[in-house]
Amino acid sequence: MDYKEHITIVKDYPQPGIRFKDITTLMQDGEAYHQAIQDMAVYAKQQNVDVIVGPEARGFVVGCPIAVSLGIGFVPVRKSGKLPREVVEADYGLEYGKDRLAIHKDAIKPGQRVLITDDLLATGGTIEATIHLIEELGGVVVGLAFMIELGYLDGRDRLGDYDIFTLTKYE
Ligand code: IMP
Repeated sequence: MDYKEHITIVKDYPQPGIRFKDITTLMQDGEAYHQAIQDMAVYAKQQNVDVIVGPEARGFVVGCPIAVSLGIGFVPVRKSGKLPREVVEADYGLEYGKDRLAIHKDAIKPGQRVLITDDLLATGGTIEATIHLIEELGGVVVGLAFMIELGYLDGRDRLGDYDIFTLTKYE
C-alpha cells in the first residue's frame, strides 16, 4: 500500500516552517489503518516481542491494535504526572519543545522483549527517553516501529543501536 496517499501534510503546524504529517486521515480509512497495523504486527511477530510500549498519544493509536492483534500486553508511556502509581521518569527534547515522560515501575519485567511504537520518528528524542525508561526496568528493546520516518531529522542515526521498522519515509 502507498501509505503516503493516506497521510496529510499540514503546512506551518504547530509552528511556522513545520510540515506536520497528519495520520488521522490514514486512521479514518479502515482499510489503510488495518493494513498499517497488519504490516507492523508482522514485524512485531518476527522480533518475537513479549510486550509493546508506546508514548502518548499517537503511540497508543499504533501500539494498542498491534498488541490486541498479537494477544500480548500494551504498556503506556505518559507525560509526567498522568500515571496513578509508582513511576520512573526521563527527560526528553522534541522537534519543537521539551518534556518529561513516565512509565509505571512494575510495567516491564526484567528480560521482557519490548517493541516500542509511535506514529512518527523525527529527531528520535521521544523514543530515546522511552528506551531509557524500559532499560532502567530491565526490559530488552528488540525493535522500534513507526508509521512515518522523517529521514531529514536523522532519528535513525541517533537510535542506531536498535532495529527500526517504518511504513513510509519522507526525505
Ligand atoms: P521526536 O522525538 O523528535 O522523534 O518526535 C517524535 C514525536 O513528535 C512523536 O511522538 C510524534 O507524534 C511527534 N511529531 C513530531 N513531528 C510530527 C509530525 O510531523 N506529525 C506528527 N507527529 C509529529
